Amino acid sequence: NFETSDVLKQLPKQFFASLVQKVNQYIANGHDVINLGQGNPDLPTPNHIVDRLKSAADEPINHRYPPFRGKPELKKAVAEYYKREYNVELDPETEVAVLFGGKAGLVELPQCLMNPGDTMLVPDPGYPDYWSGAALANVKMEMMPLKAEHRFLPQYNEIPLEIAEKAKVIILNYPNNPTGAVADLDFFHETVDFAGKHHICVVHDFAYGAIGFDGKKPVSFMQAEGAKDVGIELYTMSKTYNMAGWRVAFAVGNPSVIEAINLLQDHLYVSLFGAVQDAATEALLSSQQCAVELNETYEKRRNAFISSLHEIGWNVQAPPGSFFAWLKVPDGYTSESFANLLLEKAHVAVAPGIGFGDYGEGYIRVGLLTTEERLREAARRIGDLGIF
Ligand code: PLP
Repeated sequence: NFETSDVLKQLPKQFFASLVQKVNQYIANGHDVINLGQGNPDLPTPNHIVDRLKSAADEPINHRYPPFRGKPELKKAVAEYYKREYNVELDPETEVAVLFGGKAGLVELPQCLMNPGDTMLVPDPGYPDYWSGAALANVKMEMMPLKAEHRFLPQYNEIPLEIAEKAKVIILNYPNNPTGAVADLDFFHETVDFAGKHHICVVHDFAYGAIGFDGKKPVSFMQAEGAKDVGIELYTMSKTYNMAGWRVAFAVGNPSVIEAINLLQDHLYVSLFGAVQDAATEALLSSQQCAVELNETYEKRRNAFISSLHEIGWNVQAPPGSFFAWLKVPDGYTSESFANLLLEKAHVAVAPGIGFGDYGEGYIRVGLLTTEERLREAARRIGDLGIF
């Protein structure tokens, strides 16, 4: 056996790996588990996108190395998407980078922007891959608590001045995983001011950008005046078009950051399979009806699940966006003990909040990633436990 590097030893423990194992064990033992623990979209990619992949796979040009830094047509399509959806102007060549999925982009970013020992501001609770990026780059994380009383937005005036002065990068994510919170433009204006004042690079993770409820479309950070001067936004095809398996995402915004990402990626990849890039171009430029319908599906699921929980007497808040419900556990339980109870006694798998950071304690995250009927059934089974 060979020793691994110190950097690998620093990587955070994959909290959810053991959960997945436990859930699979229950399924293997023949239990009908309703699995709401993971963030894996359950519906297929729309046909027109798959069809474009198939035709593009026949094109010999796509059998060769694709251009470094991605196909120009795809980057143009991203710029057109931002113009059409958000009225934001982007230069396709200098303000758009193609990523191998948002996960890789997020994990690579700290290495692009910071040196070992630098400080990064990270939301708590938050998507655990932010921690992996910090560990690989050897940077220090300062956690920003996201609390219900502040609609799960960080409070800039509560960040100690010496930390704000030291921080090089701030990560934000709205619509938010795991809390389902949505930010408004005022918050992003505040963010531009805070970041500008302390010379911090904003990385806004917009993975759930297309999922907002009650008639409110989530705003892009790029819509805030001055956003491009202070940062970038990551956007993934995974959630908007049910393309999680395809591994296509983008970074848009500040040209110096886009150049840094491209430079690192020049050493890691050529770029995505050309046919995947063609299909992604098709998704961005063709009718968005599929994305509208997907959003409606999640909203119906949310309504079905939350109203069923109200019926069993669990008084929870409905999330305004993302496909997650963030539910406060009843008194006397930790997030882990409650998640275990739900799995063991109700055969409902959820993610314990502690897996997203210390401020996630006291909550569970439920993915709205099955049918309304199964979500209602999950609520009924929880009701049968007789807790509420
Ligand atoms: N950011 C958040 C908050 C996520 O939840 C996810 C996926 O679950 C991603 C980024 C990464 O998405 P992908 O790697 O599929 O582009």
